[in-house]
Amino acid sequence: MARNTEAVCRQCRRIGEKLFLKGDRCYSPKCGVERRRRPPGDQGTRRPRRPTDWALQLREKQKARFTYGVLERQFKKYFADARESQGVTGDVLLQLLERRLDNVVYRLSFVDSRPQARQIVNHGHFNVNGRKVSIPSFRVRPGDVITWRRVTDDTTPGFVEALTDGLPKRPVPSWLKLEPAALTGEVLSMPEPSEIDTGIDVRLIVEFYSR
Ligand code: SF4
Repeated sequence: MARNTEAVCRQCRRIGEKLFLKGDRCYSPKCGVERRRRPPGDQGTRRPRRPTDWALQLREKQKARFTYGVLERQFKKYFADARESQGVTGDVLLQLLERRLDNVVYRLSFVDSRPQARQIVNHGHFNVNGRKVSIPSFRVRPGDVITWRRVTDDTTPGFVEALTDGLPKRPVPSWLKLEPAALTGEVLSMPEPSEIDTGIDVRLIVEFYSR
């Protein structure tokens, strides 16, 4: 499966803000943005220029892509789906991204970052409604139940326990319900755009694709 292989800290530096793609490290002084504020390749020798409207729109689109770990082509497809829907394009786009299975696993605080969630889903560690789903982009719906699945042979002993110790590690949004003892989560409703805390300005993304 295709994925962006650029070092994630470079993605944050390119955007110029923390995207929280590395779990605990993002809250430590080792964070790439804390250590080097400038974007990759910028040695600080050029005078900074005021970004154009297009540059701001592009940045916001890239920020959404990097945050959710989505490739350009996939992202265009999400935008096309959002535009064809009945609702407000920007809000629907955010909802579609939030409903990805890897994002839901992250939101349920089963893991520390979206890239980690993507890998764990990919390795077949989750059931949705009792059936194995190993597709990170799987779109959940209200009523879906997400459960940790025991992968017998290749799971390091204590792997699941180490990851899920002390759940919930972060506040779980109100559209999801976590049952820590059963290592299960349920989708209660569609995510409301006001609840999505990624700080993405979808208006700029809509403008980017409306040029
Ligand atoms: Fe981004 Fe986290 Fe790396 Fe900091 S440590 S640059 S927030 S991925």
